[in-house]
Amino acid sequence: MTTDATQTTDATQTTDTAATGTTAQATPTQAGDAGGQALLRLENVHTYYGHIHALKGISLTVGRQEIVTLIGSNGAGKTTTLKTISGLLRARVGSVVFDGDDISTVSAHELVARGIGHAPEGRRIFSRLTVLENLQMGGFTRNSSEIREDLGRVMELFPRLKERQHQKGGTLSGGEQQMLAIGRALMSRPRVLLLDEPSLGLAPILVQQIFSIIAEINQQGTTILLVEQNALQALKVANRGYVLQTGNIILADTAANLAANEQVRQAYLGEI
Ligand code: ATP
Repeated sequence: MTTDATQTTDATQTTDTAATGTTAQATPTQAGDAGGQALLRLENVHTYYGHIHALKGISLTVGRQEIVTLIGSNGAGKTTTLKTISGLLRARVGSVVFDGDDISTVSAHELVARGIGHAPEGRRIFSRLTVLENLQMGGFTRNSSEIREDLGRVMELFPRLKERQHQKGGTLSGGEQQMLAIGRALMSRPRVLLLDEPSLGLAPILVQQIFSIIAEINQQGTTILLVEQNALQALKVANRGYVLQTGNIILADTAANLAANEQVRQAYLGEI
């Protein structure tokens, strides 16, 4: 298919600055918006795959140190939103603003260095490389002493990866591969981490584990934009959320309000 959307081959992206070590204070937020202090802002974003109009003018904000979740059914546009932010796709209309700069035309590679990390759906780890090599690849924007330091931090967060550091990525279980994908994204010290379906296909016990690690990463200072089909868990860990439906945002509110919302409960939390 012909497409005017710019795509790169490896969807796994990572970043530079801020995230490490510091305990951060969440920015106070309004119900549906991060207010003037947003780290990330999408304004009237339209994204296409060829003639397929996937995002139809979405606007959203992610405040510093927030966890914001995007929920919605299959095909709603969640993955497309993350890819439009990380530069794997381009908005045809509208803008993506990160830390005050319009990044709509910045390359995916440069966005990693600027602080946008992306752990894509389906993990996309390098299966023939070891766990350690996968993590080192994630630190491509950093120097060797920073990589050493960040490896220590990621191994602390994921002791299982430390145990398996010399094992090939492809031999890991699904949950371990998910941990590796997140760990690799953290290796560039993202200021904002885009997580696409981190709990997909995992056993319930691992789902709990992944969500507590997400909370911990956030407490260490990383802003998170989380895409999840598991809306119940996502709303438990998030500060705010947006509901996407066929390329439009139909609801924006605090996570608590969304979890209590009748429409959300029926459509996305499995309640009749
Ligand atoms: P899912 O969880 O099923 O991936 P989603 O909310 O992430 O759902 P997207 O993957 O963003 O949805 O898809 C949004 C729309 O764009 C859908 O209509 C989908 O069919 C379409 N789409 C996604 N990827 C492509 C592609 N590579 N080519 C053409 N259309 C696409």
